[in-house]
Amino acid sequence: MAHSRHSGAPERVTVIGLGRFGTSVAHELSELGYEVMAIDKDQQKVQAASEYVTLAAQGDGTDQELLEQLNVPQSDVVVVAQGENLEASVLSTLLLKKLKVPWVVGKAKTALHGELLHKVGADRVVFPEMDAGVRLAHSLGVRHITDYISLSNTGGIAKIEAPANLVGQTIENLIKDRESKLNILLIKRGNQLITVPHYQETIRAHDELVIVGNDSDIGAFVDHRPGLPKLL
Ligand code: ATP
Repeated sequence: MAHSRHSGAPERVTVIGLGRFGTSVAHELSELGYEVMAIDKDQQKVQAASEYVTLAAQGDGTDQELLEQLNVPQSDVVVVAQGENLEASVLSTLLLKKLKVPWVVGKAKTALHGELLHKVGADRVVFPEMDAGVRLAHSLGVRHITDYISLSNTGGIAKIEAPANLVGQTIENLIKDRESKLNILLIKRGNQLITVPHYQETIRAHDELVIVGNDSDIGAFVDHRPGLPKLL
């Protein structure tokens, strides 16, 4: 069941290529209340998407005539989600920018592919496979990490499930007077978001914490054992 995002009409988004990535984008956008058109060469993929998107159409995303017939240039955003076929991905992106789509997001498999998409006008390039690899690598180092955005080679923003050793501790106990530059950006408690939590906030079981800092500090924070005089 779709729920509305903001007030006002939903934005129109077209997703070209319904592989695993495109399907997940189209499905989530529909859930968020966007008006979604999905295009794929494969009729079976189109059939499956027609269950949840506003309009699903069979066709080639590099075919200008088809894109115009389907009013794709009137979309606010187009996601070029097919990544395997480099030529089709680049051609679609080029064509969509020529047709004056204001925001084109391309999916790239490699850095070079991403560079090509930028060169032909993509407004944003995403690398889901590479990003997933980075997230996994960081989460292996610190087991409680459930999500991670890399900001440099040595640090980033991590989402962690509060480990048992931190439950019952105030933030003050955990990070005040520390030499490290770690910050707790928010605590997610059920559906509640406690943004910029106060030093007196006590961490509870099942809290999720979003923290930013160097990986070594994040690791030390998660491993903190109460009773030890200093964290690092
Ligand atoms: P995944 O998201 O599963 O990783 P992928 O990056 O491997 O996908 P492909 O398998 O190449 O991408 O393609 C994904 C989908 O895009 C397929 O369903 C395919 O039929 C469709 N597709 C590929 N090229 C085109 C095109 N030119 N026009 C429309 N759809 C296309």
